[in-house]
Amino acid sequence: MRQILLLFVFVLAARWLVKTMRAAQTQAAMRGAGRADAPRSGAAGTGSARSQPRAEPRQLAEPMVRCAACGVHAPKSDSILAGAQYFCSAEHARRYAARTGGREGR
Ligand SMILES: [Zn+2]
Repeated sequence: MRQILLLFVFVLAARWLVKTMRAAQTQAAMRGAGRADAPRSGAAGTGSARSQPRAEPRQLAEPMVRCAACGVHAPKSDSILAGAQYFCSAEHARRYAARTGGREGR
């Protein structure tokens, strides 16, 4: 019976020794790596599942104007303003001016 008790104590001592050595190793590793191996986990959630809205195209935010010569809709910044009309290209502006005879409507 005494031997069993002795064995139990021995096992406890061995486990304590192993635990102490493990702690020392972990502390050494933490010190060496420079980052703390936090025992608490789960507090840091997996926040990578959020869906961010897609950036809208530039053309939707920009007003569209209609070419007076061909009727094509183009962004206002890409169109050419000649007289009071918007055109998709300088050639269309020239053609429209030639067709109207250079007479301004207003
Ligand atoms: Zn045009």
